[in-house]
Amino acid sequence: MSELDSLETCKSRAVGVLENATSVTVLCHVQPDADTIGSGLALGLVLERKGIPVQVAFGFPDELPESMRELPGKHLLVAANEVQRDVDLLVTVDCGSAGRLGRLADRVESAREVLVIDHHRSNTRFGTMNLIDQRAESTTAVLATLFDMWGVEIDEELAHCLFAGLVTDTGSFRWVQPGTHTLAERLLDTGIDGSRIARRLLDTHPFGWLPMLSSVLGSATLVKEAADGRGLVYAVIRRSDVGDLRSEEIESVIDIVRTTAEAEVAAVLKEAADGTWSVSLRSKYDVDVSAAAGRLGGGGHRFAAGYTADTDCEEIVAALLETLG
Ligand code: AMP
Ligand code: MN
Ligand code: MN
Repeated sequence: MSELDSLETCKSRAVGVLENATSVTVLCHVQPDADTIGSGLALGLVLERKGIPVQVAFGFPDELPESMRELPGKHLLVAANEVQRDVDLLVTVDCGSAGRLGRLADRVESAREVLVIDHHRSNTRFGTMNLIDQRAESTTAVLATLFDMWGVEIDEELAHCLFAGLVTDTGSFRWVQPGTHTLAERLLDTGIDGSRIARRLLDTHPFGWLPMLSSVLGSATLVKEAADGRGLVYAVIRRSDVGDLRSEEIESVIDIVRTTAEAEVAAVLKEAADGTWSVSLRSKYDVDVSAAAGRLGGGGHRFAAGYTADTDCEEIVAALLETLG
């Protein structure tokens, strides 16, 4: 069977289990972005409209990032500790591995059926059913095709959620392929305000973001000989740089660092409240950062990946340099 055939087969099986579920729990990944939340809420809304009881949740942190609070379907979100134990059908969205569920990862064991809907190259296929389209721009783009097969009409509310994931994961329509703009046009045609959604999600920061950038970018380091001479640029964000800034400000830094012309690979080391680090990796042309992140315990896509580490900053950089070659 070709990859495409098996994808279509998987999609129609997914429609079958969703349609017949007696209750559904939809889980998004930890440190959620607009793709995982947009996917979770869109699917949640569809199930709710069909009269199927549904909960949507993510393992960490407790609050939904502020930039996502205009997304329709927010009323379906429940706190991680309120996610029921025994689930009929568990659906994960935009999660490359069970570990990305954080403290909710144990629900995978107790669920009768686990449907994994995703687009990560590194996906470990941890479901009993795995709908994974590596070529899709976002998990919300996978959902759009699932809704079409299901006969679900994509109205303004669903389009808002789907567009949120599409605009975010394509870097505001920079990483696109044939079909990306067709989907965007279809979503915009429902009447959603694309500029407002993009501005709120990606282009709005408090003033304190500027001095944080100044200190973090001011100490960025270029290692020209890294990655076989292709170059690595990295920046470090310590808790002391962050103050009361939001995750949105922290996550924005990699998009500036990765523009460095002298480096094929960019990294940002982000210190968490518990002293552990999460690392964002980006590449441009010929380094597969998903593979590098995989060797360091994480995963992702060819040009965008990440992992966590609990050593100190110097050791993390040394291990990264070693892995990149
Ligand atoms: P980020 O740098 O957080 O925007 O993540 C870039 C990509 O890498 C996303 O597709 C994530 O799903 C993936 N990723 C980030 N952190 C991890 C991690 N700790 N484990 C596995 N994948 C990750
Ligand atoms: Mn994501
Ligand atoms: Mn995604």
